[in-house]
Amino acid sequence: MSRKPIIAGNWKMNKTAAEAREFVEAVKLNIPSNELVDTVIGSPALFIEGMKKGVRNTELKVAAQNCYFEDFGAFTGENSPATLAALEVDYVIIGHSERRDYFHETDEDINKKAHAIFKNGMTPIICCGESLETYEAGKAEEFVGAQVSAALKDLTADQVASLVLAYEPIWAIGTGKSATQDDAQKMCKAVRDVVAADFGQEVADKVRVQYGGSVKPENIAEYMACPDVDGALVGGASLEADSFLALLDFVK
Ligand code: PEP
Repeated sequence: MSRKPIIAGNWKMNKTAAEAREFVEAVKLNIPSNELVDTVIGSPALFIEGMKKGVRNTELKVAAQNCYFEDFGAFTGENSPATLAALEVDYVIIGHSERRDYFHETDEDINKKAHAIFKNGMTPIICCGESLETYEAGKAEEFVGAQVSAALKDLTADQVASLVLAYEPIWAIGTGKSATQDDAQKMCKAVRDVVAADFGQEVADKVRVQYGGSVKPENIAEYMACPDVDGALVGGASLEADSFLALLDFVK
């Protein structure tokens, strides 16, 4: 089963609008065709509108890094999925471990967000991943499997086939300590197996599973060579234009 790779940068809370504009200008002519790879930038919400204007007529897509699960209302400080959709945002990253850890997001919140993102015609990139303690206790598959099942609850088979799951071991995020190729393959396959158990093998064969955690130009090719790794979610190495473009060299 061939699945189109998807490389997504996650800028987190970095860059000003002017720096984002400079980045897009620097990379936009060198992004490989969407026929070969989906290339996405996870932008801070504050300048998503500018990002969408900047990437018009290019191969770059834009993701939000989070959203709320209600469209409108008295939810001070939250970002509405309906508003993101009106800005023609393509993807929304949800369930990042930083959101789970620092902002206490639960599996139930993430599931509600996934439903809200689909209702508004966008595609979720749903993150999952275990702590070092869970990894060392040999419980990573069990823990991540439960996160995935909970996040996908009551979605349709077509929705699940179209979304993206990002396996990101917490101990590898921003630490420079990346998972081995074998661990990344084993865990991305485990994530796919949960989708197969919950929604059937046909859906599991279609869903795209990314690895994330200290991915950089020097190691991305080894992850992309794994049969169950369909792409990468990249923090630090997505911030500079040269490094971001180098992440896409595996397509050549
Ligand atoms: C991330 O933010 O999702 C991430 C994987 O960060 P980094 O690539 O910096 O480890």
